[in-house]
Amino acid sequence: MATQKLKANVSSVTKRTPTWRVERAEVLAAAQEMARLGLVVGSSGNVSRRVKDAKGRDLMAVTPSSRAYETLTLNDIVVIDFEGEPVLGDLIPSTESLSHIAVYRARRDVGSVMHTHSTYASAMAVAALEIPALIDEMVILLGGPVHVAEYATPSSEELAANVVNALGDRKAVLMRNHGLLGVGRTPNDALHACQLVEHMAQVYSLSRALGRGRSLPPEVVHAEIELYRMRQEAEQE
Ligand SMILES: [Zn+2]
Repeated sequence: MATQKLKANVSSVTKRTPTWRVERAEVLAAAQEMARLGLVVGSSGNVSRRVKDAKGRDLMAVTPSSRAYETLTLNDIVVIDFEGEPVLGDLIPSTESLSHIAVYRARRDVGSVMHTHSTYASAMAVAALEIPALIDEMVILLGGPVHVAEYATPSSEELAANVVNALGDRKAVLMRNHGLLGVGRTPNDALHACQLVEHMAQVYSLSRALGRGRSLPPEVVHAEIELYRMRQEAEQE
């Protein structure tokens, strides 16, 4: 009887205080892979994942501010609510948390956000160059060209609003004079979006150096964007 009672107590405690171990582990793995791939310098960049509490309220698990990725552990991934208030963990959440929250509020389909400073994407952001629809895979997976969000001070609400505006319904956006933000259903999807943009930024940079950096034909881009939207809708059903 005592054991049964204890089990019941443990189960009710677990229900009251979820720790989102699986989701935080996904954030940790994607953050460490982002660093390993060289998409960020030092402790810059950040990764988050949408999670829910027992009442269905939206929260996010996010990497902490100014911590080396190599030595990051599961306990370092904090959970905050959409007002920025801490729910789990002691470390300071990423300073770009406002942009992540703004994207989650605007896009119900987004389950994860990643922000990187990868070299070629950052070069495009500094040059304020939109990456056109260059290759079929890019349009089908990212939803079209990668636009450039207007500059605003890092960590500000203005930057968060600019990012949401320029992102639209696509999977990635450049942040002027700053870097890149990619989104997906999971941290792995968001990582893939950031990798693909970095690759496309390299391709665009090299093709411009060769004197030609041309978009796919407009009718192809249009058809592929339609395909992207259909897939987005199907995934949400
Ligand atoms: Zn940044």
